[in-house]
Amino acid sequence: MERASGLYGDAFIACAELVGRAGAKSFEFGYTNEEATTVEEAGWWASAAYRGAKLFVGDHRSPTGAAMALAERILRGATCRCGELVALSDEVRGCRWQLMGKHWQPGCDAPAIAVRGDRGDMAAIEAAATLAWSAEGGNRAERRAAARGHGTVASERRRRNRGRL
Ligand SMILES: [Zn+2]
Repeated sequence: MERASGLYGDAFIACAELVGRAGAKSFEFGYTNEEATTVEEAGWWASAAYRGAKLFVGDHRSPTGAAMALAERILRGATCRCGELVALSDEVRGCRWQLMGKHWQPGCDAPAIAVRGDRGDMAAIEAAATLAWSAEGGNRAERRAAARGHGTVASERRRRNRGRL
C-alpha cells in the first residue's frame, strides 16, 4: 500500500473525498479495454452518481487521470462555500481551487464543507480509491481483480485509516 502515499494515490484520494463532499451516492471506476496489455491502454473511466444526475469521464490512461478529470467535472460550475464560483485556473475569476496532496483545497478561508451522507458511503468511496491504487501500475490480473471489486485490501486500509477523510 506504499503506492497510496505517492502523488497518483493522493490525486485519487482527493477525488474520492471531493465526490463525498459533493454528496454523491456512489463513486465507481473501471476500464473498458479487456484486450489491453498495458495500464495505459486500458481506457480508464470514473463516475459519480448524484440524485438525478450522473457524471462520467472516460478514456483515460490511468485511474488517476480519470479521477482528475472527474474532480474537475465536479468542481467546474460549482459554488464554493465562500459564495464564489470555483475557478480551476488563475485566468478565471472566482475562488481558486487546487489539488494539494490528498485534498482539493479552496483559495478562501471558508470552513471545510462537511461530508454529507452517512459514513458507510465514505467507506465505500475509500474502498474504491484503495482498489484504484492497487490497479495503478499493476499488471493485467491485478487490474481485473481491482475492477471486479476485490475487497480484501480495501477493508484492511479502511480499518487503519478510519475517520481520516
Ligand atoms: Zn471559496
